[in-house]
Amino acid sequence: MPELPEAECVVRCLRGRILGSTITSIWVGRCDIVRHGIDSLDWYTGAQIVEIERKGKCVVFAACRGGNTRYVVAELGMSGLLLFSKTAQPLPQHTHLILKLGGAEPEVRYWNARRFGRVHLYDRSGVDHFLNSRYGPDPLSLSFDLFASILRGRRGRLKALLMHQKVIAGIGNIYANEILFDARLHPQCQADQLSFHEQRRLFASMNVVLRGAIAEGGSSVQNFKIPDGRRGMFQMHHLVYRKEGFACPSGCGSIIRRFTTERSSFVCVKCQRLPRRRRDGTRKLSRIVKSSNQ
Ligand SMILES: [Zn+2]
Repeated sequence: MPELPEAECVVRCLRGRILGSTITSIWVGRCDIVRHGIDSLDWYTGAQIVEIERKGKCVVFAACRGGNTRYVVAELGMSGLLLFSKTAQPLPQHTHLILKLGGAEPEVRYWNARRFGRVHLYDRSGVDHFLNSRYGPDPLSLSFDLFASILRGRRGRLKALLMHQKVIAGIGNIYANEILFDARLHPQCQADQLSFHEQRRLFASMNVVLRGAIAEGGSSVQNFKIPDGRRGMFQMHHLVYRKEGFACPSGCGSIIRRFTTERSSFVCVKCQRLPRRRRDGTRKLSRIVKSSNQ
């Protein structure tokens, strides 16, 4: 958290309010937060924000000055926020970087309590190399054929694959759980052994869940909010995430269980059956039997 839907909502809010604004300066509270390009800070003074995009869970600001473009990449990590604020407002603890602007919003503050997130200052080739080396294709712009070829080409458990940022960018634990339940697939399914219909179901669920979450402003689990302070509502629509012990929302009569593989997995073992391989190599559907209190 935040994951793709939250980062997308952050980007949409930023676009509506600061696109076209001029950067008057960048204030850095902790130098170790800026991992690349700290010596280029002064370049950004006077540059205009011409584009704001998302890659996975990163927010990428493009700034143009004198015909040249440089980038500010903000990794939201586990707890990062980008927040508008008036310059007169006191600086909360864990504010690590501020884009000071000449537009209607005087500041965008990068706040991160857990310090897993980072900010990078790059030129064009630097930003391309950074993003392409860390993040795979975006699930919302991925074709089914490419998605299916990614699944076929990867051995390993399905949930781990969905959360592998170099394979598919932006899905974390909340949405992996929700997507797999929606598709009625067990987190420990082998990714390369899904049938065509299972691949289709997973692709559809990935789109439905992620787009549904964006439409609700993301999930405000913990402290997430978009830059203008609004909180998301999609946590009200979570069907399995953190619902252990609750009745399965499909009405199957079973309960949601929590497993500790691939972080916390929330599963209805009746709806999401784990296929077992027979000795002859074919698959057999069977329930898994495992304690729910791990
Ligand atoms: Zn169920």
